Amino acid sequence: MALSFIIGLATFVIYLLIWYLCRRHNRRIAVMAAAQHQLANARGLGPAAIAAMPAFVCENSQEGGGGDCAVCLGQVQGGEIARRLPVCKHLFHVDCIDMWLHSHSTCPVCRADVNLAAVAKKAEGGGEVASQPLPPV
Ligand SMILES: [Zn+2]
Ligand SMILES: [Zn+2]
Repeated sequence: MALSFIIGLATFVIYLLIWYLCRRHNRRIAVMAAAQHQLANARGLGPAAIAAMPAFVCENSQEGGGGDCAVCLGQVQGGEIARRLPVCKHLFHVDCIDMWLHSHSTCPVCRADVNLAAVAKKAEGGGEVASQPLPPV
C-alpha cells in the first residue's frame, strides 16, 4: 500500500519534471526563433550610409524648419540638428533618424527606400524610382 503510494508520487514528480523541462525548452526555442526573425528583418543602413545623408542645424526662419519628426512625434525646433532624407526630403531629428536607420532602410513616414545604393541600382534597372508614389508634403 505504502509502496504503491510512493510509486504514484514518484511518477507524479517525474511527470512534473518532464513538463517543466519541456516548457522551458519550448520557451527557449520561441525566444531563439524570435531573435532569428529579428535578425533576418534587420536590414538597416551602415554607419557610413547614414553619415552620408545631409544633416544640418535647423533654423526657425529656414523653410522646412519647425516640421514634425515622425520618429519621436516631437517638433524639429530651431537650433536642433536635423537630417533630411535625400530621396523623399522628409525631416527628422538626427538622433531619431539615425536610430531608425540602424534597423530600417526606409523612410518612417513614406517608406521610400533611403538606401542610396539600392535606389541607384533600381534606377539603372529601368526607371522604377519614377514610378514610386510622391511623398506627402
Ligand atoms: Zn525626433
Ligand atoms: Zn519620406
